[in-house]
Amino acid sequence: MSPFAIRYLSVKAQCPLLRFVKAQCPLLRFEEAAARFGDDPRAFCIQTAEFVDDGKGNVKAVKTIEVDWQVMTEGGPPFVPIPGTEKEYPADLVFLALGFLGPEHPVADQLGVKIKEGRGGMSWYDAEHEKYTTDNEKVFVAGDCRRGQSLVVWAINEGRGAAREVDRYLMGSTDLP
Ligand SMILES: Cc1cc2nc3c(=O)[nH]c(=O)nc-3n(C[C@H](O)[C@H](O)[C@H](O)COP(=O)(O)OP(=O)(O)OC[C@H]3O[C@@H](n4cnc5c(N)ncnc54)[C@H](O)[C@@H]3O)c2cc1C
Repeated sequence: MSPFAIRYLSVKAQCPLLRFVKAQCPLLRFEEAAARFGDDPRAFCIQTAEFVDDGKGNVKAVKTIEVDWQVMTEGGPPFVPIPGTEKEYPADLVFLALGFLGPEHPVADQLGVKIKEGRGGMSWYDAEHEKYTTDNEKVFVAGDCRRGQSLVVWAINEGRGAAREVDRYLMGSTDLP
């Protein structure tokens, strides 16, 4: 095994969208990485449980455990750790790429904005595409907090759309696209 390796660990199961992206996008060179490093750098249904310290304040390894998404924990995450699947990956550098859980509820509660709940603990503010206004007519929402987890192109599109609708709300009409 090469002394240098990149690993992609995801607590989520591999989604159909990722399989589609992998098939369509030649820039995601999973096969190349697999050929170079011996196996597919991606591992799914794995939760990072602990960062191991080298005693000098640097990360030395990442401890993980596999999770089962078929089992819900009452009041907890929609998966459970599988005992006996603990592993330790040596690591010099760890990048955290987290998200997809939706906007904060306290903000919505204070503003009187309705929240919609989805599978896996996801949530988003309730507002119609192209209108962007919520139960509180002075609150406009766009992007991930309106659609749920999505893409940058949608965030840009909806940000422009929300700006247009705010302008219409304030001025009575708008010239914005
Ligand atoms: C790990 C990961 C990988 C991704 N990869 C891709 C990809 O490859 N391609 C792609 O197109 N999309 C990708 N996305 C999705 C993309 O990042 C989002 O769709 C996009 O960033 C949504 O933009 P947004 O402006 O709606 O929200 P955000 O980018 O989340 O912006 C919301 C902003 O609001 C701020 N904020 C939150 N609460 C408050 C508050 N109370 N007060 C003030 N500010 C607040 C936040 O700090 C943040 O800056 C990825 C997302 C994640 C999490």
